[in-house]
Amino acid sequence: MRASLDIAIVGAGPAGLAAALHLDRAGHRVTVFERFDAPKPVGSGLILQPTGLTVLAGLGLLDAMLLRGARIDRLYGVDAKSGRTVLDVQYGALKGGRFGLAVHRAALFGVLHEAVARAGISIETSRDVSDMEAGASSAFLMTGEGRRIGPFDLVVDASGARSALRRHAERPCEPKPLAYGAFWASLDWRGGFAADRLAQRYDRASVMAGVLPIGRVEPGGRDMAAFFWSLKPSDAEKVKAAGLRAWKDRVLACWPETEALVEQIDGFDSLTLARYGHHTLKRPAGRRLAVIGDAAHSTSPQLGQGANMALLDAAALAHALAKTSSVEEALDGYCRSRRRHVRLFQALSRAFTPFYQSDSVLLPFIRDRFVATAARIPPAPQLLAAMVAGTMVEPFAPLGLQEIDWHGLTGGVAGAKVAPRSGGQ
Ligand SMILES: Cc1cc2nc3c(=O)[nH]c(=O)nc-3n(C[C@H](O)[C@H](O)[C@H](O)COP(=O)(O)OP(=O)(O)OC[C@H]3O[C@@H](n4cnc5c(N)ncnc54)[C@H](O)[C@@H]3O)c2cc1C
Repeated sequence: MRASLDIAIVGAGPAGLAAALHLDRAGHRVTVFERFDAPKPVGSGLILQPTGLTVLAGLGLLDAMLLRGARIDRLYGVDAKSGRTVLDVQYGALKGGRFGLAVHRAALFGVLHEAVARAGISIETSRDVSDMEAGASSAFLMTGEGRRIGPFDLVVDASGARSALRRHAERPCEPKPLAYGAFWASLDWRGGFAADRLAQRYDRASVMAGVLPIGRVEPGGRDMAAFFWSLKPSDAEKVKAAGLRAWKDRVLACWPETEALVEQIDGFDSLTLARYGHHTLKRPAGRRLAVIGDAAHSTSPQLGQGANMALLDAAALAHALAKTSSVEEALDGYCRSRRRHVRLFQALSRAFTPFYQSDSVLLPFIRDRFVATAARIPPAPQLLAAMVAGTMVEPFAPLGLQEIDWHGLTGGVAGAKVAPRSGGQ
């Protein structure tokens, strides 16, 4: 085994918790620093792709996730006015039996956090890390309250899109705000929607609404759905001032079938306004610093890759550290192993987002008339499925991971409580 390092991880999101598990298992002494008083998840639901699920399987957490999630086989979007199918991506277009697993954020957080607690990894809460100092052989963290904590052999910045530490990366950059964000809500699942898919409605690119079955927070708990409605964060106050009824009427005019979901929302307080930005660090590392997850690369959730990329980053860092006793060499290895995959998906997300969330009239016209038709002609269905699955370039081998045998899993999935499959919509 390589030398055991003292490692500080800043942030207890998916990236930080997965990194803590990987690095603890590799024999390093790990402490997680989290600014919240009690670690907690932010937001509603997300889709774990075959990439993220493979990382979770490597951590022995796949069965726990399958018990909580909803199996997703299809992403299906319809133009609200014409009823025309605009998006139809099926994981089954690819050989191999892949699928996505939609989960409540609290379920992903709970499974990772319990595993961290079981491993006895220390999480220091109420630690708002504002800065770091790094020398040739060690690094220190600085907190908002003026504390200096350390020394550490390595700092892992997993503090998300608003990271205060990434300015110490070699070529730092900050997220550029995107015009559109969204209201998100976690609601009780209601019938009337196919349970095997993310369903979406569009009105040009200025309205995108979605319903995603997200399973349950705990096994045996009640089934839930994530609902989202895109809007410009700068318009949110105007929408709130017009009142909840006016907003619901707008949603129902666009998508009447969501009534049983939307009627559960009893105030704007039950909606989370998510703002998105986009940035990609050219080299997510600095002196004694590795930057992982959203701190290294943020984007809109259009392609649903963020949490999965965070999990891949965590696995990549641990793999790189296992290959050498030099921290500098390991940081080089980490950056190299993720470069192609991160750059490709960040570029795809940047290219696709304006087709679905922008003020453009031309882009949604092209999307509805030409792209939707072209997407049905091989190899487009396979390419789209690989894009959504996160496997358009091989993400596993550079990390020393082997993709799950999805067919072999079928029994496990059927045995777990996954949302029932249902027919077309
Ligand atoms: C609305 C929405 C929908 C999304 N949908 C999907 C999807 O379908 N699929 C998908 O894969 N991804 C999705 N994403 C993206 C995904 O949520 C993120 O990519 C993922 O959470 C990144 O994980 P992370 O651990 O890097 O950062 P985060 O989840 O942001 O975690 C960062 C942690 O660091 C802590 N922290 C922050 N600053 C400090 C500090 N100064 N000191 C100490 N601690 C700090 C925070 O409190 C937090 O606990 C979505 C994102 C949003 C907003």
